[in-house]
Amino acid sequence: MTDLFSLPLEWIPEGSAALLDAIRDWADKQVIPVRRRIDEDWEQHELSHQLLRSLSVDLGYQWAVWPEAYGGGGMNAISSALCTEEIARADSGLATAATCSVWAMTPVMPPRENRHLMELFTPKFLSTDEWYVGSAAITDARSGSDVENIDGTGGRYVATTAHLDGDEWVVNGHKLWPTNSGGLADVFAVFCTTDPAGGPDAFAIIYVPAGTPGVTQGKPYQKAGMAGDWNSDVWFDHVRVPAEFRAHGPGADAEAARAFISSGNVGTAAQCIGVMRNVFELLREWCDTRVVGGTLLKEHTITAGVLADIVTAIETSRSETYLKARMLDRPDLYGPRHTPEMLARTRVTKLFVSDQLTLVVNKAMDLMGAFGYAREGDLEKHWRDSKIMSLWMGGRALPQLDIARWFFDAQSY
Ligand SMILES: Cc1cc2nc3c(=O)[nH]c(=O)nc-3n(C[C@H](O)[C@H](O)[C@H](O)COP(=O)(O)OP(=O)(O)OC[C@H]3O[C@@H](n4cnc5c(N)ncnc54)[C@H](O)[C@@H]3O)c2cc1C
Repeated sequence: MTDLFSLPLEWIPEGSAALLDAIRDWADKQVIPVRRRIDEDWEQHELSHQLLRSLSVDLGYQWAVWPEAYGGGGMNAISSALCTEEIARADSGLATAATCSVWAMTPVMPPRENRHLMELFTPKFLSTDEWYVGSAAITDARSGSDVENIDGTGGRYVATTAHLDGDEWVVNGHKLWPTNSGGLADVFAVFCTTDPAGGPDAFAIIYVPAGTPGVTQGKPYQKAGMAGDWNSDVWFDHVRVPAEFRAHGPGADAEAARAFISSGNVGTAAQCIGVMRNVFELLREWCDTRVVGGTLLKEHTITAGVLADIVTAIETSRSETYLKARMLDRPDLYGPRHTPEMLARTRVTKLFVSDQLTLVVNKAMDLMGAFGYAREGDLEKHWRDSKIMSLWMGGRALPQLDIARWFFDAQSY
């Protein structure tokens, strides 16, 4: 179905149409017809891996999002959000796996790049044979999402540590949940601390190739949904990597982490919109054919009110998300991604849009009744897959804290 929702056309780079068409075609022909099988594939990941490889390598998604200065397509935040929408419209688990793979590398990408790491990893990520997989290992076994509470607790409770021994970092810790773990990841961006007392200078992002001695990935978890994405425990036991594998250094890594969360907020919102668009498509089809009380469901006034609420949620989510994507693309006007201001503004986007997603999926299920709850109806899959988007990146609390901190100058943590 044609995309009926508003988009700021003047902000969309001209060159992005071909890839978007290719992803839409991949979604319609390769993913949607088999997406129910992705749930059964949660332990093997064969189907998902094949779909992710075809997206990332054959279609060139991985190349397209890689920086232009390093031979990639140099996609900006707007095009990137559009691609994310198209992938998530078919399957949000696959969208999580594909986008997080490259997102893990954004702390060392331009504008503030770590040249050494970019030169090392570019040939792997631009491989035309294999899907090279990145993973951001943030959530800590002990302190959970508090690792992302950079301006609140400042890394005081981060249990994953790194200390410099000669010209090597020695990393120790236990992470839970990183997207693309479970044996899939080729490289981890490990969010850790160089000083258990915390503080912005102690916050560190250290890159650890998955094959380094001392790294162990557990078995994939079985979750309610999002089987296209693999998650597991990851242990780092006296893992040694060269000193230059730290993203930047004291202070700068905390800034890189904020920038990373700002772009993750907009990416999550784009993913939510992709799901909402497909929910809308499923609902349109249902309301066009389902007759209740002798009349098409959509012709009942009480139903029309709900349908209008669903459209309003998607329209406003789109406006909010693309405004913030545009702001990320124009640091000359709005400032860089790493400021507490941009973090707070984009936390608003993630909080609001993921809440709209939960409302939209629930309202759609109310209208579709038991068919919406049945496996054969696909809505049920979105219902299971989507809730995590309001839970990850610190649930509701961390976005709320960052928002109150900047807009109200609140010191809450
Ligand atoms: C499909 C999927 C993909 C994921 N991808 C990744 C990934 O790529 N990398 C990664 O590292 N993790 C990832 N996660 C983990 C996810 O980000 C976390 O589960 C999430 O951030 C919440 O952390 P937690 O589960 O440890 O809960 P906790 O951090 O224990 O939070 C529990 C509750 O406490 C609230 N809370 C947290 N801090 C505060 C505070 N300071 N004040 C008040 N309330 C607070 C939270 O909002 C939440 O309501 C993923 C999880 C899933 C299921």
